[in-house]
Amino acid sequence: MSGDPGDYYSRQTVVPEIGAAGQAVLARSKVLVIGAGGLGSPLLMYLAGAGVGTLGIVDFDIVEPSNLHRQILHGIDRIDTPKTVSAIRTLSNINPHIDLIRHDEPIGAANAARLVAQYDLVADGSDNFETRDAVHAACRDAGKTLVSAAVQLTNGILTTFKSHEPGDNPCFRCLYPDRPDADVTPSCSAVGVLGPAVGAMGSLQAIEVIKELLGIGPSLSGTLAMYDAFACEIEKCELPRRAGCPACGIAVQPPVTGGNKPTVSTEATG
Ligand SMILES: [Zn+2]
Repeated sequence: MSGDPGDYYSRQTVVPEIGAAGQAVLARSKVLVIGAGGLGSPLLMYLAGAGVGTLGIVDFDIVEPSNLHRQILHGIDRIDTPKTVSAIRTLSNINPHIDLIRHDEPIGAANAARLVAQYDLVADGSDNFETRDAVHAACRDAGKTLVSAAVQLTNGILTTFKSHEPGDNPCFRCLYPDRPDADVTPSCSAVGVLGPAVGAMGSLQAIEVIKELLGIGPSLSGTLAMYDAFACEIEKCELPRRAGCPACGIAVQPPVTGGNKPTVSTEATG
């Protein structure tokens, strides 16, 4: 960590649930963010502002003009710049008192465990099932909490996975037991997304990360939050462990009940 934060966090430490003790916990925390895109932008900016001491950023894309309506880490002067480089330029300007680490590589089954092992908690804002599945598997194996969000068009979903812990904590494959068919699942570029809807979800994701780091309840594990931007509504439904889940495999309760099933596919945008 560089420099003296001085009164940088003075408006945050007065929040009763945080205080000086919580701020110290945040300063010691290491969070890995998957994707410096639409979700990763507000997520990283708020986690940097909150004083999470170490932020790792996984992305291997460069900034393109079509990113800018939602990926607020980046600007027109960053076109063709690696997103990790652009992200660190923005984040170090927001908060110079934290450590920022670039991981310029696609994350998948081959390297997820190595990357996840370096951090306390992971937040996934990636845009495809394979990445989400690999990140979740690595988090579950390593006993790391995963805060996951996805957005498509004007709808978003948000939940927390910590199926490594005792209790009725579902895993990613409890939510998505079947791999989607790549031939019929639309890509984000084909479907589109409302910029501020992604911003809202990335902000909500940052809140859940801070809650998990500080142990502020209730955790979103076991609950699926579904955001409808145009209705200005967040509906929450129970997300129990799935009997016969291909990943956690513990027959506890039947499939998702209570509330609507998610309307956002795993091919949502980042
Ligand atoms: Zn499961």
